[in-house]
Amino acid sequence: MTTDPILPGSTIGVFGSGQLGRMLALAARAMGYRIHTFSPEHGSPTGQVADREVCAAYDDLDAVRDFVRHVHVVTFEFENVAAAVAEIAAEAGVPVRPGGRVLHTTQQRIREKQFLAAAGLPVTPFVPIPAGDRDAAHELLAALERIGYPAILKTAAFGYDGKGQARIAGPEDALAAWQSIGHQDAILEAQVDFEREVSVVAARGSDGDFAHWGVIENSHVDHILDVSVAPAPVSERLAAEAVELAHAVLAQLDVIGVLCVEMFVDRRECLLINELAPRPHNSGHLTIDASVTSQFEQQLRAICGLPLGSTELLRPAAMANLLGDLWAGGEPDWAAACALRDVKLHLYGKQAARKGRKMGHLTALAGTIGDARELVLAARARLAQG
Ligand code: AMP
Repeated sequence: MTTDPILPGSTIGVFGSGQLGRMLALAARAMGYRIHTFSPEHGSPTGQVADREVCAAYDDLDAVRDFVRHVHVVTFEFENVAAAVAEIAAEAGVPVRPGGRVLHTTQQRIREKQFLAAAGLPVTPFVPIPAGDRDAAHELLAALERIGYPAILKTAAFGYDGKGQARIAGPEDALAAWQSIGHQDAILEAQVDFEREVSVVAARGSDGDFAHWGVIENSHVDHILDVSVAPAPVSERLAAEAVELAHAVLAQLDVIGVLCVEMFVDRRECLLINELAPRPHNSGHLTIDASVTSQFEQQLRAICGLPLGSTELLRPAAMANLLGDLWAGGEPDWAAACALRDVKLHLYGKQAARKGRKMGHLTALAGTIGDARELVLAARARLAQG
């Protein structure tokens, strides 16, 4: 379906107010759009650079109704916004992109995995464990028999960066794992012995046009993304397969916007989808400095019905996250990192530097991904040496 594009000068409404909303807002402002943000927070990363910051709870439906009346298109910077929000916007005749079905599917791990399996796409072996009123702990033991050890138990809803997850090495860990995730609906997954983790960040326009930034390789520390490099050092065959999987996901979910497919490459060089994020993703931050069109500009173009931009990668790149832990010894030495001229600094305007909190990132450009990785790690090491 093609509709009239939402042109510069129009107002973008974003639910959520973190760094993803901030980077979308910066791209929107660069192209002459106005941006409003809605979240319970005040002085948020997005609010600092938005034209309007509305502070209200996501279940304050009157506030949601008022918010959508003042914007031309609604989008999200995280998927855990109630479906009611998308419904209210749709009722008001404001396009919601990506649509409510995409949110509904991706905000709950059981639904997401079942969608992928039903679509014939390769996923990590899983068994749903509904909390219900039956003997869920018993069901978990039966599921472990099928999945084998080691396994990972994850809450079905509101999990990210390894939160709401417990590893089960043997039957003796099962009960503790079940208790640690708080007796909620859950999903049991085989722990994949992966060779590497990769992602494909891709975009789909309102006319079905598809664009992607190729395969990005990701390394995690304590379940949190640490470093991403692009292009990932994988074979052409694997890269083509990964992009084809992403294309299938975006097409089958009828996504208008950006979506990231996180995957494992197992020891047999096969791809298994771990997770979907229906929005720009941390692993795609390097596109801001390394690509003709960033994932945020592309999200804007897609949701506004503009043609998608080129995703050409200008140089090999590496991105390193800056977590709150870096502030332990005082303010990091920004000048020392900026002295490396091929390194770019991004900070999200967050006040409290808590442990594990994503405060910003660095991107380094170089002739090879090996050099880019080395450079970004050197820049991050300099920050702490002040
Ligand atoms: P998630 O929140 O599901 O994206 O998990 C965060 C990280 O935990 C992943 O990026 C992996 O490093 C690790 N992880 C999650 N699920 C699995 C799994 N089934 N097998 C192996 N590692 C996993």
